[in-house]
Amino acid sequence: MRPARALIDLQALRHNYQLARSSTGARALAVIKADAYGHGAVRCAQALQDIADGYAVACIEEALQLRAAGIRGPILLLEGFFEADELSLIEQHDFWCVVHTEWQLQAIEKSSVKTPLTVWLKMDSGMHRVGFYPEQYEAAYRRLQATGKVAKIVLMSHFSRADELDCQRSEEQVRAFEQVRQALNAEVSLRNSPAILGWPQLFSQQQNTDWVRPGLMLYGATPFEVEHPLASQLQPVMTVESKIISVRELPAGEPVGYGGKFICERPTRVGVVAMGYADGYPRHAPNGAPVAVDGQLTRLIGRVSMDMLTVDLTDLPQAGVGSRVELWGKQVLASDLALAAQTIPYQIFCNLKRVPLLYVGA
Ligand SMILES: *Cc1c(COP(=O)(O)O)cnc(C)c1O
Repeated sequence: MRPARALIDLQALRHNYQLARSSTGARALAVIKADAYGHGAVRCAQALQDIADGYAVACIEEALQLRAAGIRGPILLLEGFFEADELSLIEQHDFWCVVHTEWQLQAIEKSSVKTPLTVWLKMDSGMHRVGFYPEQYEAAYRRLQATGKVAKIVLMSHFSRADELDCQRSEEQVRAFEQVRQALNAEVSLRNSPAILGWPQLFSQQQNTDWVRPGLMLYGATPFEVEHPLASQLQPVMTVESKIISVRELPAGEPVGYGGKFICERPTRVGVVAMGYADGYPRHAPNGAPVAVDGQLTRLIGRVSMDMLTVDLTDLPQAGVGSRVELWGKQVLASDLALAAQTIPYQIFCNLKRVPLLYVGA
């Protein structure tokens, strides 16, 4: 059997979820869209079932998969419905629903739902992707109330730059949101992972009504490119590992792999690992990207191929065929690999495929 696999530490997931709650004093919707960022949505939801205040997903297909697996409790559709006829399923399965645009509001006005819905009304406070503009927001809120088809409205918005700790944009967004919110008496939800971890000072008065929406942090990766004390308390959930399947000794000057993109600077022991871009390992990871062999840090050398990649074993004389290789996990942080490969840990996780997921803890 091919030795590539991903271990998913459900105890670490629970730890990270609790950190989102304890560090904010807010209720937290566990964001498990995109198959829980590659970690397996059903298993992650089950592992949080006794502690989660609810879940959030991208669309009704993801929400239905959770209900079919027996997940009870609130499930928020982060982009609401894509077609008006989803409303009957939303009613039937008691999903919560974001409303971010005029046609969705009209669809609710025209709908024949019998059980009043829970709607999260989205404001565009500066992200400029979806949501009602601040000057339209109160009117949208009043129209929703007037439909008689809505039991509860949560006021929500989303940050565009909370991962940049020296950027003013999050403060500006909170200010834009607050100006409108003050006229409305409702619960609030603004924060994603970077805002939970990085911007506690912006939220002190709202703690009791607040909902947070942690995604990335649940999986134990930092959203920041710099050290951060709270983010350093996160525990990585996913460990992607494989084994060395072949070793060769090359003299200085020899190229390794496709395109000869690495030339040995010295006599080099090259280890070949059963892992490639078809597993989701970033093909653009450069020479020098971090990797751990038998618990020791070393470097990627040569181009990543579809099913294999090559690492430098020259300074690890004990390592050889059968040695365990960690591509990312508790030792090689996904965020560090992402930095090396000029991407983000979100994409490292979401790209994972082909390898079996093995659940440990909880
Ligand atoms: C994905 C998403 C989140 C979670 O964001 P993270 O940065 O992963 O914590 C929160 N809110 C909305 C609306 C989202 O789409």
